[in-house]
Amino acid sequence: MHHVERSNTPGILIEKQHIWTKPWLDHYYHGSRPKKPSSSHWLRDDIRIPLISDFSQNCGYCGCSVPSLKEKNNNESIGKGDVDHFLPKSKFPQKVYNWSNLIWSCKACNTEKWNHVPFLNPCNKDHCDMLGFISEKGEYYLKDEFKDEEGLALRFSNNDKRTFLNSEEICRQRQVLVSSLRNRFESVHTFLYLGDDLPAVCIPLMEQCLLEIKEIIAQPSFKLILQWQYQLLLIEFDAVAEKIHNQ
Ligand SMILES: [Zn+2]
Repeated sequence: MHHVERSNTPGILIEKQHIWTKPWLDHYYHGSRPKKPSSSHWLRDDIRIPLISDFSQNCGYCGCSVPSLKEKNNNESIGKGDVDHFLPKSKFPQKVYNWSNLIWSCKACNTEKWNHVPFLNPCNKDHCDMLGFISEKGEYYLKDEFKDEEGLALRFSNNDKRTFLNSEEICRQRQVLVSSLRNRFESVHTFLYLGDDLPAVCIPLMEQCLLEIKEIIAQPSFKLILQWQYQLLLIEFDAVAEKIHNQ
């Protein structure tokens, strides 16, 4: 799960939050009368577009890339992403139009999560730092030191069972990404180890590896690996690229 830095609250939410929230409070706090509001202002482009941008078009829970905007003549991409309410509308109506409560999500995670609570929040850095990553399996786990902390085990268990965080397909995709990066880094390290003995014919191969590494880590993919490992790869990439260009 990648930590997501949130942008500032969109102006329209600052302006309308109070007005738009009131019918939800009236519905849930007054014996379900009046009727549940049918409006979904969170789907407006001036709310959804900055949200999608904050999440780099990836589902906040499982990391899969979800098509973002309606594309003309491409109905396939419509409606595969959802605006999820981290704290569900039915239980926390006061948060319905709270910017920090909105999470860009794939339909599968949003549906599975439904109105369950609690979950680890991808916008909470502490929550993300509590997770470890088993690169061989492409799986996330809750680090041992947090297992006894009140509520955290339940939160992680919900993410594990009620979102697609550790689903077979997503884990497989993560494994592929991690191993393709590893293979390329190992090749580059082997070339570098040869130093002056590196045959000239290998230089284009090494440059090709570097280019492929660069392309992989440039993807705004939340599937990749934990944020800190991703940052390490970026640092390592720069160091390796510099060495090569200085040769
Ligand atoms: Zn998802």
